[in-house]
Order: sequence, then structure tokens, then C-alpha cells
Amino acid sequence: MSAVEIPTAPRKPGDGVRLFGFTVGHVNMPIGFFLDGEPGEMRAPVTAFLIDHPKGLVLFDTGLGPRFVRPRGTQPDSFIDLEQGDTIDERLNAIGVDPAAIRWIITSHLHTDHAGGNAYFPNATVIVQEREYDHAFHNITDDPIYEISEYDLGQPFLKIHGEHDLFADGTIVIFPTLGHTPGHQSAKIRTDGGDIVLTGDCCSLKRSLDEFRLPNHCHDADQFLTSLKLLSSLERKGARVFPSHDPDFWATIPKVGPIG
Ligand SMILES: [Zn+2]
Repeated sequence: MSAVEIPTAPRKPGDGVRLFGFTVGHVNMPIGFFLDGEPGEMRAPVTAFLIDHPKGLVLFDTGLGPRFVRPRGTQPDSFIDLEQGDTIDERLNAIGVDPAAIRWIITSHLHTDHAGGNAYFPNATVIVQEREYDHAFHNITDDPIYEISEYDLGQPFLKIHGEHDLFADGTIVIFPTLGHTPGHQSAKIRTDGGDIVLTGDCCSLKRSLDEFRLPNHCHDADQFLTSLKLLSSLERKGARVFPSHDPDFWATIPKVGPIG
């Protein structure tokens, strides 16, 4: 079943940065895909986030996109499962946010379950590490998880190198977490409720970080481990680290109103 989203309170004067989380489909995968050597299968949520900043609306990832949508009440015909109504544009509509108002998309990386919904946001600029951009546009012949038609849309890209403080106020700080892909990145969001780190596939499951466990396949294992150590240091400083595909963790996150 999909999480139900309901309308939330509009911004009030004095509100800081608010973060909202959305389930944008699921993937049914071997657990080893996320934790090398772990047996069994799992149904993992695909997640995306809205960051409501006083200077504008920002997405972190856009989940699965329209090519996977199946009509409600039908069965999925692949390991990817996206039901009509669960795409990121519909999730935003459900809380009264017009997709045309999205100004920025921070893309953790350009895999299909993280950038698949970019097409819903014609007015957004996509923020990507330059090395991820170069890989995704010029070097993907052997990697079907990149679907170039989903992100080569004519949208402007802001190609960054390393850390980037989006509004120069410390509230949305994007930083590289390489390893899963050549230019993977994460973001630290300073909400009124504390710091939250959105990790993409640098940390797919909570156990990835708790046990420093790598997936069974990644671009660079050494870089991946370095990135997990960075997330761990942020956690020790009090940040809440959000894995991107963890069903147990995700069940604890409110889907009604702001997370933080
Ligand atoms: Zn990925």
C-alpha cells in the first residue's frame, strides 16, 4: 500500500525551513543489492523530499518517473512498482504545491529511481555534481539504471564541484558523497527541528550506516566507505541521517505535514 498524503498547513510568517517526505513508488530487490552478502528480498520505498525554504521550493530527488506508472488496481510487471497517483507531481499536488513552482531539484545522482520524475518540473534548475553530470551524459552505455531521456530534458543544470551552500545561509548545504556513483551527493538541511541529512544511495538502509555495510555493487568501494564515515560524523554531531530506501525507518517518518 502507498502512504497517504493529506494537505498540510501553509507557510506562516516566521516559519523556517520545512521538510516534507514522499513515497514515490517502490522497488522489490534482493537485500544484497543494498547490503552485500545479506540474503533475502525486500520491498523498498523510493523516496523524495520537498524543502520549503523562505527563498523558494527545492526538491531533493524526484523518485520514479512516468515511464513506470501502472493504473491503480493492476499488478506491477517488473521489480519496479509505481502506481498512478504516486508520482512526485501528484504528491506535491496533494499538499497544495504546484509543480511549476519548484525552483531547484537537488539530484543525489541521476539513477532512474532518483531522477525519474524530473520531467514534472519544467521551471526547475537541476543541481548536480559535475562529475555525475559528465558520467550520466557521456559514459552510461553499460548502466541501465541511467535512463538519459528522463534527465536530458533541456532543463538548466547547475553543475557544482564539492560543497555548495544553496542559499548561502547554511540551511541547505549540498556535499559530495561519492562511491555509489562517480558524482553522488547528499544534502544537510537545517530545519527548526534540527539538522537532517538526505543521503540518496550513499545510505540506502539504516544498517548501511550503522554497520558500515556496502551494497553488492558500486562505482568505488573506498569512496563509498569514506562517504559513510562522513555521514557517521554528522550523525555524531546530532544530525538525523535519513536513508533513502529503508522501509522500517520510513515507517517512522511522518507523511503528513513537515518532518522537521
Ligand atoms: Zn542509485
